Amino acid sequence: MNDHMSIYVGDQAIEEFIQFCKQGNFSHFFLIADQNTYNALGKRVFQSLQEQGWDVLTQILNPEHLHTDDFSITRVLATYDAEPRLFVAVGSGTITDITRFTSHRSRNPFVSFPSAASVDAYTSKNAPTTVGGLKGSIYCQAPIAIFTDLPTICESPKFLTASGFGDSISKFTSSSDWKFTQLIWGSAFDEGIYRNALHAAKQSASVVAGIQRADPQSMAKLMDSQFESGFCMADFANSAPASGGEHHIAHMWEMMFHWDKREGLFHGHAVGVATLIEAEWYERLRALSKDEAAALLGQAVVPDKDFQEQQIRQTLPLIADELIKSHPIYIQLADPKVLNTCKQRMLDSWEEIQTAASNVPSAQQVYDWLKLLGAPTTPSELGITPCQVETAKEFGLYLRERFSMNIIRKLFGW
Ligand SMILES: [Zn+2]
Repeated sequence: MNDHMSIYVGDQAIEEFIQFCKQGNFSHFFLIADQNTYNALGKRVFQSLQEQGWDVLTQILNPEHLHTDDFSITRVLATYDAEPRLFVAVGSGTITDITRFTSHRSRNPFVSFPSAASVDAYTSKNAPTTVGGLKGSIYCQAPIAIFTDLPTICESPKFLTASGFGDSISKFTSSSDWKFTQLIWGSAFDEGIYRNALHAAKQSASVVAGIQRADPQSMAKLMDSQFESGFCMADFANSAPASGGEHHIAHMWEMMFHWDKREGLFHGHAVGVATLIEAEWYERLRALSKDEAAALLGQAVVPDKDFQEQQIRQTLPLIADELIKSHPIYIQLADPKVLNTCKQRMLDSWEEIQTAASNVPSAQQVYDWLKLLGAPTTPSELGITPCQVETAKEFGLYLRERFSMNIIRKLFGW
């Protein structure tokens, strides 16, 4: 079994943390927050450490244009005094990732005080980091413990909660896409992790009304789902259980924003809208009989390898080499032998495909949940143009080795 760090969720997070420090003989700290999260929680953590007579360095970053990048990493390392310290991240995704990176590279452990339910990456070992203008997922470390102050989570801005919810319910489609990949492409799979990913999504969806009211018990369940989703990725050592075709569409939009130097696209908002798009395809899939699927697959045409590569180079010049080198499934399907094998496997496992698809809620249901929380439901609300929607659908399927619903709808000619 995998060892997971201890996680506290409740009203006594700071007290629990002080006990943890006493037991672990920690007395030197480096607290990292941004101005907002410092005001909301970091200041109280700082004061509690000081009251113990412990040595605390702090770095409070400007939340404007804050990213896990060369700039913020250098700011943190410039303040750090190279003494052994327990790093303390007080914030959401970006602050946690900056701390994950700087603590790991300075050979210090870190703990996380999440400030919002906005992401599922608190338990992760990787930090999405932009260095020299290029964004990549960099291997760092997971926190040694997580202390969740529930009142802070409940009072966090509603759009952050809505973003976290969008990311959480994407496990409905990501887990099914992962199952499809096993059935059709023969990729590695783990039944227990699959069930956990699905459980995370179901749990978040089951408390959506409470989340809308920021009711503490429901918010605790949303946090719990976020941690569970993070553990799914950590345990499988791959994002597959928690990131499927919907994430690949959302990643395309995130990259487009990045290339255009635009700000303000929240991960979970983009993922929520992309989940809605995949849910519509899932609905169409569920309505198909095996014979109808066979007829559609009989007409499936996959453009040849050269044509596809040329399209990728033309549309995504900045990442084309990297994408082509990763041998995307859809390019491999240009080989008629590979395509026929996959078509046959789809038909042979049609019942299992339908069972996995039945876990995905209807598009209307996903829409209603997102709407209730005030989350965007259309690409235009995200600031994405119709042309960018098409590009993300058509090229998102090249991003990772996943036989996602997006590839299946291409084969069906939808
Ligand atoms: Zn995500």
